[in-house]
Amino acid sequence: MSEDFGLDAIARWPKPTIEDYLRARREAEQAPPVVTALPMPEFAGWGAVRYRCLLDCGWFHEENPGLETPGPVLLPVGFATEDLSAAIASAAEIRSKAAAMRVEQAIAAHFAEAHPGR
Ligand SMILES: [Zn+2]
Repeated sequence: MSEDFGLDAIARWPKPTIEDYLRARREAEQAPPVVTALPMPEFAGWGAVRYRCLLDCGWFHEENPGLETPGPVLLPVGFATEDLSAAIASAAEIRSKAAAMRVEQAIAAHFAEAHPGR
């Protein structure tokens, strides 16, 4: 594994500001509905991904993609290899969208509770 992808590199990434978040949100709202605006995650160990509060209050939300159970993979009768890859890709996309939605909802709930009006 290259040094460039170590924790040092992640720690050097610029922290997103609330303006970054709001701009990303505005862009996401104007873009096709697939795009979500999430803060830059950090890796919390054990495969967990941590999303910190953008106002740096100490709150964070963790997701562990490795612990998610894969959903059903739907295949047509007499499927070919391409169908299998497409079905797996689509199941993975659904899981990643669901995770993104959980993170957005957790952040929205935290802002409503801890930073009302922000
Ligand atoms: Zn906060």
